[in-house]
Amino acid sequence: MLQTRVGKRTAEAAFAIASELVDEELITPAEALGRVSGDGLARLMFPRFDTAAVGAALAHGIPASPGAAVGAAVFDSAEAVRRAATGEKVVLVRQETTPDDLPGMVAAQAVLTSRGGKTSHAAVVARGMGKVCVCGAEELTVDTRARRFTADGMTVTEGTVISVDGSAGAVYLGAAPLIDSVVMRYFETGGQPSGDRSQTVVGAVHRIMEQADTVRRLGVRANAVTPEDAARARRFGAEGIGLCRTEHMFLGDRRRLVEAMILARTDADRDRALDALLPLQRQDFVGILQAMDGLPVTIRLLDPPLHEFLPDRTELAVRLAAAEAGGSTPDAHDAELLEAVNRMHEENPMLGLRGVRLGLVVPGLTAMQVRAIAEAVVERKRAGGDPKAEIMVPLIDTVEELRIVRAEVEQVLANVSAVAGIPVECPVGTMIELPRAALTAGRIAQEAEFFSFGTNDLTQTTWGFSRDDVEAAFFSAYLDKGIFKVSPFETIDREGVGRLVKIAVAEGRAARPGLKIGVCGEHGGDPASVHFFHDAGLDYVSCSPFRVPVARLEAGRAALPQTQADQSERTSGAH
Ligand code: PEP
Ligand code: MG
Repeated sequence: MLQTRVGKRTAEAAFAIASELVDEELITPAEALGRVSGDGLARLMFPRFDTAAVGAALAHGIPASPGAAVGAAVFDSAEAVRRAATGEKVVLVRQETTPDDLPGMVAAQAVLTSRGGKTSHAAVVARGMGKVCVCGAEELTVDTRARRFTADGMTVTEGTVISVDGSAGAVYLGAAPLIDSVVMRYFETGGQPSGDRSQTVVGAVHRIMEQADTVRRLGVRANAVTPEDAARARRFGAEGIGLCRTEHMFLGDRRRLVEAMILARTDADRDRALDALLPLQRQDFVGILQAMDGLPVTIRLLDPPLHEFLPDRTELAVRLAAAEAGGSTPDAHDAELLEAVNRMHEENPMLGLRGVRLGLVVPGLTAMQVRAIAEAVVERKRAGGDPKAEIMVPLIDTVEELRIVRAEVEQVLANVSAVAGIPVECPVGTMIELPRAALTAGRIAQEAEFFSFGTNDLTQTTWGFSRDDVEAAFFSAYLDKGIFKVSPFETIDREGVGRLVKIAVAEGRAARPGLKIGVCGEHGGDPASVHFFHDAGLDYVSCSPFRVPVARLEAGRAALPQTQADQSERTSGAH
């Protein structure tokens, strides 16, 4: 025998062949696990276009959330909601999305943006919802006011049907033929195969997932905000929630209450706004703790800059100027909002008043959130549940920040506990998402009962790359020049960011033996990064619900002896 090569095969064939070889007793189940990949599983989990039937792409962008979808192009959230309510399938097209676009994203089949990278708002939120997303499609010129975009010399007006391939990062004009995913149906129904398991791809996936779960050391949790997401994550095999981003609970109708909190001129006004938010937050937490009953739920205190909850500065200014020019009295509320937006404007909001800094400077905010968590725990316990809430503090730079917040958290927990007559014990931990935190992890571990790496921000701040801008702006040039082979926002940069992770793991555990450590940045669902987190000794990875099966599979593959893992599709090539 002069030469052998790994046979090229589709993802479907890779799973089916591996499973059949086990049936024929030619390989072990562990070897079968080594012969498939998370990338292959991801390809099987989502609908795709019949590639033989699609023509040339209209534009390309970053494949930010996999799958394929067809719908009429719409240019704002309200239009997406309006058309979807009539049963029409729509694709939300924006320059970039903000929290305001959430209803439109929920209503749409897919999201397409001309700006932003894999960790931009559109990408992260779409992945969380399992919604198709292509972002940073720079060939697109989106004109929201005229309700159209141009690409490749063509103008696409509102209502025109387009097809979006979130796995390939391509956009097509017209309706491309869709092929549904039986594997997604299998996971959606809680991982129960039907029919003859050896004959179907679902049977093969089931057998290999069982093997992965048997051998993996890493736990797999999900990033989820709603009870529905939490329940889906559980069906997909998540063993808890690693990140509940509470800012997502402050949108919609609640924006008004957040606005009132920000605009408050007196302590009494602010307290009133916080008091109004409290029961709403508590109900959110009750729902999510119920969906994850008996499993850990890591709830992160508010993280983003507050001005994200206020309307756009330019839009407000234009509205006020238009009123003035038209001779009418400018809206007093708009004027007040503009004043607040101007006051809070930051040149670098991602490095500004956010994360733990918010809790330290906005009186009552941390206390309100912690009280909502503690009261939700009490309510669930009274209902006979087994709530396991964990409180996580974002964007810590120094142990001093955590010490102050933790004292406040414990005070509130003790108060709620005393009033209810029910013990409320929530571990308090922190995200490690700034280089300084990673480098001083030994000191931070003195105050933290767990760590969770926020590798989105850690990548942003270690490289000095804006997570919202650089991927679309110049990563293709960097990739062409071979500066890196894959975006560090997609796959963890082992040499730099990974080194910080390893330092923090070693120093954190040296200071607090047994410290529980996870990751909740987008890397938690990336196959190659899962292997790194396994090697680095983390306890769990946390990723969006739709990536949970991929993370389970890759965590299993990471635990295989090297000889078996080497046979994978991922590492295939001439040997
Ligand atoms: C992170 O920074 O990796 C993280 C999980 O937090 P967010 O993406 O919400 O900033
Ligand atoms: Mg972060």
